[in-house]
Amino acid sequence: MFPNSIRNYSIFVTLVASLMIGCGHQTLQGEVSPTNVILMIGDGMGQSVISTTRIWKAGSDGSLFLDQLPQVGLVKTYSLDYTVTDSAAAASAMATGLKTNNGMISVTPETLAREDQKKQLETWVDIAKRQGKSIGVITTTDIHHATPAAFYAHQESRKDMRKIALQIETSLLDLVMGGGLEILLPQKGDLPSDKADLLKDLASKDWRILRNKADLKRRWDLKHPIIGAFSLSHIPYYNEQSAKEKSSIPTLMDMTSYAIQHLSQNPKGFVLIVEGGRIDQAAHDTKTENMLVEMDHFDQSVEVAYKATSPHNTLLMVTADHETGGFTFSGYLKRTEVKKHIMGKVLDEPEFKRTYLSWATGPAGVSEQKNIKTNKKEHPHQAAYYRKKAAHTAVDVPIYSSGIGSSEFSGTLENTDIFFKIKKLLQQ
Ligand SMILES: [Zn+2]
Repeated sequence: MFPNSIRNYSIFVTLVASLMIGCGHQTLQGEVSPTNVILMIGDGMGQSVISTTRIWKAGSDGSLFLDQLPQVGLVKTYSLDYTVTDSAAAASAMATGLKTNNGMISVTPETLAREDQKKQLETWVDIAKRQGKSIGVITTTDIHHATPAAFYAHQESRKDMRKIALQIETSLLDLVMGGGLEILLPQKGDLPSDKADLLKDLASKDWRILRNKADLKRRWDLKHPIIGAFSLSHIPYYNEQSAKEKSSIPTLMDMTSYAIQHLSQNPKGFVLIVEGGRIDQAAHDTKTENMLVEMDHFDQSVEVAYKATSPHNTLLMVTADHETGGFTFSGYLKRTEVKKHIMGKVLDEPEFKRTYLSWATGPAGVSEQKNIKTNKKEHPHQAAYYRKKAAHTAVDVPIYSSGIGSSEFSGTLENTDIFFKIKKLLQQ
């Protein structure tokens, strides 16, 4: 499926790109700046979910698409106030270059204390926008959820979702797509802003509104910002979607393809943030099968992004905000027994339940309160310690990259380094 020499090929094209005028943006110093920057975030995507999805999809000796990317590094994920980050603080660190408290969206305690609240933190997306690039954010969660929000909004709490959604209109976005239609409609509260119909408002300002897969067939020029809201809340897990839902709700691959085609109309280039947001949510519920399917879709979206762009002028990065649940694949399962059989029935077999797939925390853990009953069907894989929702962990996450500037993203990085390195590449 993949060229065996993709690693060598990518190094080759990067070298060639650095010698070619017209590939990327060449400065007087001879440095090449990426025309397009794509940051793909698998929310909660630890190394174990990557390895397990690989074993399921391609066998132990096979590869996911992201395995083929030439550069790999590790990212430390702690936040300003906790050893274990949440998505808001992690995405804010990647967007602004500053560690902040869990729950905060591209603000810090220091900026909140400042008198001039209007002077917001600068993100690398702001820098790209000033350079004339178009900006897109897509996700499988609500579009106002913590990870996507950190790249277009500034808010003290991720819980103020309506306030985050209100910032879409005044943001730098040219395209935003995902779930979360409900928050765009008039709300039940008493404030005047609750009465506003954000969707209607956006339509009146010339935004184009996409509601289903069929709407992706229609193309618009860049004069019209695009908002796609394909479900009331998060996009349903693909593994649980009905046939009707599958025919009307675009996948992350569909959205990635559409976004790149749309944003590529800009000769100055684009920025695209792609979040596989439901890997994390499935992990919180220790819904192993859903998690692996969401991970597979995220990996397929990496392939779509790689093939729809050129490493001559694009920097592609694939990383996670944190790991979720302490998920692992352990024990000695024969390779002949596991290939392509991790999913479905095999998941429920006693042997599998007992050993091979397990969690550090989650609903199937042992509780100090002995009367808590877990639903064995919903949570077939044992966790060590009971929590209603599995917790994020402190382990480092991988960062894979290809294209212009990708050599910057090896070694062990702080999540804030992602901001500084992209900023440097954009400005050189
Ligand atoms: Zn989470």
